[in-house]
Amino acid sequence: MQTEKIVIITGASRGIGAASAQIFAKNGYGVCINFLNNDRAAQQLKNEILQYTPRCITVKADVSKSEEVKGLFEEVDHKLGPVSVLVNNVGILKTQCRFDEIEEQRFTQVLNTNVMSCFLCAKQAVKRMSTKYGGLGGAIVNVSSGAAKSGSPNEYVDYAASKGAIDSLTRGLALEVAAEGIRVNAVRPGLINTDIHTLGGEPNRIDRLKSKIPMLRGGEATEVAEAIYWLASQNSSFVTGSFIDITGGL
Ligand code: NAP
Repeated sequence: MQTEKIVIITGASRGIGAASAQIFAKNGYGVCINFLNNDRAAQQLKNEILQYTPRCITVKADVSKSEEVKGLFEEVDHKLGPVSVLVNNVGILKTQCRFDEIEEQRFTQVLNTNVMSCFLCAKQAVKRMSTKYGGLGGAIVNVSSGAAKSGSPNEYVDYAASKGAIDSLTRGLALEVAAEGIRVNAVRPGLINTDIHTLGGEPNRIDRLKSKIPMLRGGEATEVAEAIYWLASQNSSFVTGSFIDITGGL
């Protein structure tokens, strides 16, 4: 395996992605922080990470777009070196509503951002990591959701279905590249304290629902990031095509 460890984390300026970037940096990885709009948050995270590693870059790119994904991976090739871990973390949801009220434009945006991004990034990663193409192997960790199993009725079935696609991608790709040095796994977070709930129109969603969580609280981004790191690390070297639910028992 390669000794220079490089991780690309999509959507890493905030939330679970940012918490993951910190853990990878503390463990000696060179880190690429991808983000969409929030230059300030990305730069602030980079400044924090530079305390742990000099190898950290920010790359502004919409990972739902093929050309921008190509550019992201090429920038990492040039500035950090060959990627060894991809964390497919980007995900959005929209305002809570019934499924039959959702506009087609939203279907497209949610599927492109949550699913196409993972397809495009995983493809670029496999081309670089697979021993079939002369790569040194690596790991891909997809960030799914407990919604893949619950279906999120009356909230965001479109989002839940996009995460179902991530689960199928995880299983299928894991088996396809298992003999080529690449492990593919996923985490399924439950209710985690990040900005994403504001996008759904309910910033205090976790407060409303926490009594239904067996552990009676929402999770923190670092609690998801620890599992992501484990799945990427050699400590999980015989784990592929697997899922970790991080839901407080929900
Ligand atoms: P978040 O706090 O809303 O952060 C989203 C991140 O994604 C930001 O860094 C944002 O960049 C970036 N982003 C959005 N669209 C992008 C695009 N097209 N290209 C590049 N970057 C983009 O989200 P989070 O709660 O940490 O969620 C992370 C993942 O966990 C998602 O896949 C989500 O579905 C999943 N998840 C979250 C929860 C939860 O309760 N929080 C539960 C289950 C699953 P900017 O800062 O530039 O906007």
